Formats: sequence, C-alpha cells, structure tokens
Amino acid sequence: MEISKLQLEQVNKQIQRLIASNNFYGKKLKEAGVERVESQADFEKLPFSQKQDLRDAYPLGLMAVPESEIVRIHSSSGTTGVPVIIPYTRKDVEDWAIQFARCYEYAGITENDRIQITPGYGLWTAGIGFQAGCERLGAMAVPMGPGNTDKQLQMMQDLKTTVLCATSSYALLLAEEIAKRGIKDKIHLKKGVIGSERWGDAMRKRIHDELGVELYDIYGLTEIYGPGIGINCKYDTGMHIWSDYIYVEIIDPETGKNLPDGEWGEIVLTTLVKEGAPLIRYRTHDLSRIIPGECPCGSKHPRIDVIAGRSDDMMKIKGVNVFPKQIEEILASFPELSSEYQIHISHLDGRDTMRIYVETNGSVDFALMAKQVADRVKSRIGFTPIVKVVELGVLPRSEKKSKRVIDERFD
Ligand code: ZN
Repeated sequence: MEISKLQLEQVNKQIQRLIASNNFYGKKLKEAGVERVESQADFEKLPFSQKQDLRDAYPLGLMAVPESEIVRIHSSSGTTGVPVIIPYTRKDVEDWAIQFARCYEYAGITENDRIQITPGYGLWTAGIGFQAGCERLGAMAVPMGPGNTDKQLQMMQDLKTTVLCATSSYALLLAEEIAKRGIKDKIHLKKGVIGSERWGDAMRKRIHDELGVELYDIYGLTEIYGPGIGINCKYDTGMHIWSDYIYVEIIDPETGKNLPDGEWGEIVLTTLVKEGAPLIRYRTHDLSRIIPGECPCGSKHPRIDVIAGRSDDMMKIKGVNVFPKQIEEILASFPELSSEYQIHISHLDGRDTMRIYVETNGSVDFALMAKQVADRVKSRIGFTPIVKVVELGVLPRSEKKSKRVIDERFD
C-alpha cells in the first residue's frame, strides 16, 4: 500500500516534532541526518522503532510534547521485563475514541446498542478504549471489566446486552457457560467484538455457533493508541486499518525489507497525527499481510489479514520453520477436536521435540486420534510431533490472552 502525499506530509510533521523533542527517535533522525521525506523510497529508509527503544525510555522518555499537555498515560504489561509507558495528549485520547467509535460503526453497532465490556480497566489500554469508543458512538456501556462470570451472565440477561466485547478465550468461556446453564434463550447478544488476540477459525466457529452472534476482530496495541485502530467490516475480508491515523507496512522480519501487498510478514506501523508519543516504523512483531484490492464495502482504508502469530513465535523444529497458525489449521481439520490446544517445545537428548495437547470428547479412541494428528502434521509440515489427547475441558481457558505455545528450550 503506497504512502499518499498527505501521509508523507503528516510524517514530516511527526519528524519535526520528534527532532524537537530529542527523544530516542529524534536522536535516531539526527544521527541519520534526516529532516524530511519526499517519497516512498525515502520513507522506507527511515529507521525502525523497537519495543526495546520504548523500554529504554521508561518512564516518560517517549514524551514528544511538554508535560503540561499530557493528560493520561497507559502502560503495556511488563511480562518480559521493564514495562512501556505511553503518554497521551487530550487530542490523542480523542483521536483514539474517534477511531474506536468508527470500529463499532463498521461492525454495524449503533447508539441503540448495549455494549458489555469485559476487557480490564486500568493501566493497560483495553477496557477504557472500548468504553470511550462506546460513549463517543452514543451506545450504552456496561463496564464490567474481566472476571466474575456469574455477574457477567446476570447483567447480560437483565440488561439485554446486545454486544459483547471480550478476548476470544473469555468469549468462549462465556459461550460454554451459557450452553452449560441452558440460558441461551435469555441472551440477547447480536455481535461480538473480539480483541486482537490471535485466534483460529475453529475457535471463531465455536463462539459463533454457541452464542449465535456475528464476530468482529478489533486490532491495536498499547504502543499505538490501543485496540481500535482497525476492524473487519461486515464483508469480513480482513481488518480495515484507519489510514488517516496509521500507515501500515509489511516487512520481512529477517531482512527488514518491505514486502509487496499480499505477502505475509511483520506489521510495521507509523502514527500520522499522534502528539504525546508519535512512533515511526514501529515493529509490532505481529504477522499478517496486506490484502490486495478493494473491499466490497467500498472503504478506502487498507485491510490486513487475521493475525497469524508473532514473528518471535516462529518455531524452528528439527530445522523446519513452523508457525502456530499452521498447527492450528491442521487441528481445525479434525471435527472431533475442540478449538483449545497447547504446544510444548522442548529439547531432549540433543533433539527438539514438539508435544501437542488436544481435547476431544469420550466418543473417539484417544490413541488412534493422536496417531492421525501426528501423521497429518508429518505429511503437511515435515516432522512428527508427540500428540497427547485429553478430555474436553482439561486444557486451561483464561480470561486473559491464552498462552498456547510454551517453549521450554530457553527456560
Ligand atoms: Zn470493508
């Protein structure tokens, strides 16, 4: 997707702001001697921003405006070391709400909807983003936050909630509870807006079937506003990313070179009008591709495909590159298996091994099932995993992002 003249001018304004602020990227620009970009080629020569740059700037080193203009901060979870703090100006907060409200509109949600928000509120960007977009749209927010399933289901029935906002694993947990309690006829949900966690087609189908709702994938990350910078429309041909706020590129994660539309690689994002903490060419490590051509809805905002994983999730097993998505697709080809799975990778006796845990009900022969799955992985990807079949409900469901790939080789 080529950068437009307007987007280039917006990038130039960001460059000036960053140089003036002398934050990490301002310094990179000075070192590179760059003050302006005039073309696509110039833009693609700009240095990348990395998560580590943001960590090094902790706590407030990203600020690109005087502190008096900052009205709020958010922080990404610091599961792997120092957290990242993103400062927002009043305009940034408003721009985020405008983008989020547009997401709801693309999902066909209106001011007459009642939106139950189950992502967490607080330092991270989830709950408050869903909330601000809902209020901007004029719908009724039911700000539940995560957990307390009994209360969630009670409010869902009493308030006749029409939209559920959740992670895919929590949506599945609620769907399973609704089925177990036999209360489906008391639920009024029409749509689910699901956070950007990677989720497979099998899981999507289960949530869709059990809740009977249309599902929308929302994209975003704390470093770039938060969730709400893109969503799929009703034609479900990929997530539109708001090109008046964000410029999207796809690069080869190994070489850093830009890839043509249609090819899979790492998403790199540039904020076009952000004030508090503008980011240029930020490497997300999310894997996707730009979908070529136009969406039937007529929107000019470019589309990216479902997130296929993390570039750092790419697993090398016995010399073969494997993405979790490939395993997920193979598992989804077995109707006997649930959508839950876990992959463990370990290094035993000088060899890498992959163990795959899958769930099924009691109607199939576990040993036979395990052999069929292992054979299909061997024939499609080229190595034989160890497959363990367990009873339905044994694998962990969580209200947070599920960790389905556990690499024990580096522990
Ligand atoms: Zn569309």
